[in-house]
Amino acid sequence: MNANQTKDFQSKLKIELDSVRCEFLNELKDAQHEFTGELASMLENSTPGEWIDLAVTKINPNQFPRFQRLMELEAALCQIDIGQFGYCCDCETKLDLLELSKDPAKQRCPVCEEKKRKKLQN
Ligand SMILES: [Zn+2]
Repeated sequence: MNANQTKDFQSKLKIELDSVRCEFLNELKDAQHEFTGELASMLENSTPGEWIDLAVTKINPNQFPRFQRLMELEAALCQIDIGQFGYCCDCETKLDLLELSKDPAKQRCPVCEEKKRKKLQN
């Protein structure tokens, strides 16, 4: 992958991250639970970089697909920063460019994805 392609993925990821943050915040506000309302105001009073650390203290990420997506997007952006973007996070195989263009937050090659899926089922 060349630098321009990485840049394109980076801007795609950032755009999606912005909208997912916004949707997640609205979801929390609409949920009408005390803890989600509390979390929403905590998040509004902090920088987006602190969101993940704050949110995991209040919610179970498994129950909030948007929050899971937010974590995936941040992980992918972090991989760009450290030069690991485009590689499987488990076996470091190069990821397929076409697959990445479908989902730039993709973290694993098909083999490791399958392994992880099986692990989660057990
Ligand atoms: Zn892999």
